[in-house]
Amino acid sequence: MPDSPADQSAIRSELTAKAAELRAQIEELTKPVEGGATIGFGKRIGEGTTQAIQQMADASTAQTLAGVLDQVERAMTKLDDGSYGRCDECGEPIGEARLEFRPWSVRCVEHAQP
Ligand SMILES: [Zn+2]
Repeated sequence: MPDSPADQSAIRSELTAKAAELRAQIEELTKPVEGGATIGFGKRIGEGTTQAIQQMADASTAQTLAGVLDQVERAMTKLDDGSYGRCDECGEPIGEARLEFRPWSVRCVEHAQP
């Protein structure tokens, strides 16, 4: 279990870095489009269409990232209140392998959101 102070601070900096990375990505994806499309297939299928498709894809990616960011922030709160590593739903340990793969996991496999 990641319960020693050293581990906690390593996890905290990992979560902090992840949150910053997600915020930057979301900002990049949701910023207003300036000018025309700079890359790609504009000449073949029309720049407007390409841009609209790209914006839809970006919006959906941004939404997914925002969901992950919520979990990262929740995981940091859990570090603070000492419940890190335990499921928000049932209180059972989330599992080391799962936490190693996704340090911001806040639920066990059984209660993970789709
Ligand atoms: Zn659970």
